Amino acid sequence: MQLPYPEEAWKEIPKIFWSDLNQLPFQTCLMCNTNFEESQQPYLIEKAVKGIVGGQALSTVFEYAVCLGCAEQMNLSLSESSRIKIAQYFETHIHFNARREALQDAEQSEWIKNCLVKHRPPREQEECQLYAFCLGDKMLYHEFPYMITSEALDEMLQLLSAKTLDILNGFKDDFFDGPPELKELLEKGGPKVLL
Ligand SMILES: [Zn+2]
Repeated sequence: MQLPYPEEAWKEIPKIFWSDLNQLPFQTCLMCNTNFEESQQPYLIEKAVKGIVGGQALSTVFEYAVCLGCAEQMNLSLSESSRIKIAQYFETHIHFNARREALQDAEQSEWIKNCLVKHRPPREQEECQLYAFCLGDKMLYHEFPYMITSEALDEMLQLLSAKTLDILNGFKDDFFDGPPELKELLEKGGPKVLL
């Protein structure tokens, strides 16, 4: 797959984006089980964590990785009005190009230091969600990675239709067949917004 990003935008995946279950990088898609390394399918990581200290999260609330194909399907299954509202919210609040320029020479950890929307670190004990886009054992530094505090996530949740919230909750139920540790992680939180 050809990806339209310069080679220097791909870097090693920092440990904060590894799976908490086995302390290794994510290997398979939560939804279709495709192996990321073998298939060379790009994939997205979402982790909800509390307390980031020295580039490490003190606790993980939930985590998963999905291949781009499954993420797109999931996104398309959300209601159109929800998708439009989230896209508008992003457009109003986030200036990805300016952010990328400001961060391009910064340490990797700077990318997730401040909330993408609120421009501040998470408060003590405040949950936040981390997002990354990867290919094989490399992570892209472009629009991703970013961190969103629960304050901003709550604002986004208010924009979602009842139908979309049902789908997101159903997503959590559908993937309870996985390993018990994963089930436990998903039950604690579950994806709130699949971006
Ligand atoms: Zn998949």
